[in-house]
Amino acid sequence: TLFLDRIDALNPQLNAFISVDRAGALSAARAADERIAAGTAEALTGIPLAHKDLFCTEGVLTTCGSKMLANFVSPYDAHVVSLLKAAGAVSLGKTNMDEFAMGSSNESSYYGAVSNPWKTTHVSGGSSGGSAAAVAARLVPIATGTDTGGSVRQPAAFCGITGIKPTYGLVSRYGMIAYASSLDQGGAFGASAEDCALLLSAMTGFDPRDSTSLERAREDYAAALVAPDTGTKPLAGLRIGLPREFFAEGMADDVRAAVEAALEQYRALGATTVEVSLPNARLAIPAYYVIAPAECSSNMSRFDGARYGHRAAEYSDLADMYSRSRAEGLGAEVKRRILVGTYVLSHGYYDAYYLQAQRLRRLIAQDFQAALTQCDVIAGPTTPTTAWALGEMADDPVQMYLSDIYTIAVNLAGLPGLSQPCGFGADGLPVGLQLVGDYFSEARLLNTAHQLQ
Ligand code: GLN
Repeated sequence: TLFLDRIDALNPQLNAFISVDRAGALSAARAADERIAAGTAEALTGIPLAHKDLFCTEGVLTTCGSKMLANFVSPYDAHVVSLLKAAGAVSLGKTNMDEFAMGSSNESSYYGAVSNPWKTTHVSGGSSGGSAAAVAARLVPIATGTDTGGSVRQPAAFCGITGIKPTYGLVSRYGMIAYASSLDQGGAFGASAEDCALLLSAMTGFDPRDSTSLERAREDYAAALVAPDTGTKPLAGLRIGLPREFFAEGMADDVRAAVEAALEQYRALGATTVEVSLPNARLAIPAYYVIAPAECSSNMSRFDGARYGHRAAEYSDLADMYSRSRAEGLGAEVKRRILVGTYVLSHGYYDAYYLQAQRLRRLIAQDFQAALTQCDVIAGPTTPTTAWALGEMADDPVQMYLSDIYTIAVNLAGLPGLSQPCGFGADGLPVGLQLVGDYFSEARLLNTAHQLQ
């Protein structure tokens, strides 16, 4: 009840939770107590957590931050939710998010914006802003999120916590409401790399219900962490690549200073830094804003008012029911993406936009592979600036899209990426260091983050 009481006290100010499941949490906690007494506990048994409100949870509201699903109680659990239940973790509730995970500030939620716990006039980041704010404010020790273009790493950076998006395919997407299926990936938030390691280990595992789920043995990421010891050189031999393009321009001075200080620490711990190049990374945002809306426009077609979700009260025929239900149930940003997606997939534009974007995606992935022959980990800022004020970007969606410049390329390549707090900006808000590695290098990324003091 310690965490539930904290949620009661602080959530009205932060708006990090959409629903709190007090009764479910207390009964899961009792079951965990029995397991602990019986000696069958696992690492997460009895540990409170929260799920982003796009993971389906049996018997508990799953809104995806939308009016469309304001009344949707899922009849089943997402794979991630059942894995964590089986591990004995205790879900306290569902966290706020940008509507259908489309956004970078958590302001597109039908349930209102989330405030940054460090400065409540500022955004928490998005789209998993509720999970990040909840962990940062210690309303819950760990939380799940999803990352399609940065939605775990960016809010982790803005809220001063650790967030990891694993290799695409490592975490099952079954029961995770789809935005852009070839990019969506479940991820973990924690107050430290160690907490993220424990959560991520429990979230991964092959699932035949997701056709892109990878058949790999589960790794114990926490066991792979080496205790930080500044007396030795725990990172001796580690080559850290610094993409020339990321350090050239665009990064705010205070973010640059915090990132440079982290790199200095890494050198002191024995790592070497080497300049690398990602020449096509600047094309990641245009490619993403063709591919993600294209997949979104297809995924969103299931919300038609017929099977579940919001249905307009009055309509003349079936087509009118579809269009009124969608017009009423979906917000402006979601509609914008559906329109863009439908456009780029339509006859005559498909070759000009969609196919070109897929080619760029290939080039971006090749850039990363070339860079990773020269280094083991790629480091840079997670975001160009610290969190901005609530409302500051409300009228400028393109400016908001551009803020994901460092995170989005990683999703296009399917690589794992992590954000670790590395200091504060001039405004006192946290700065995140992004670490990216080759496929399945989660253990190395988490250990590298773990060494930063
Ligand atoms: N900000 C990006 C978008 O709006 C990424 C969101 C995400 O990762 N879900 O699409």
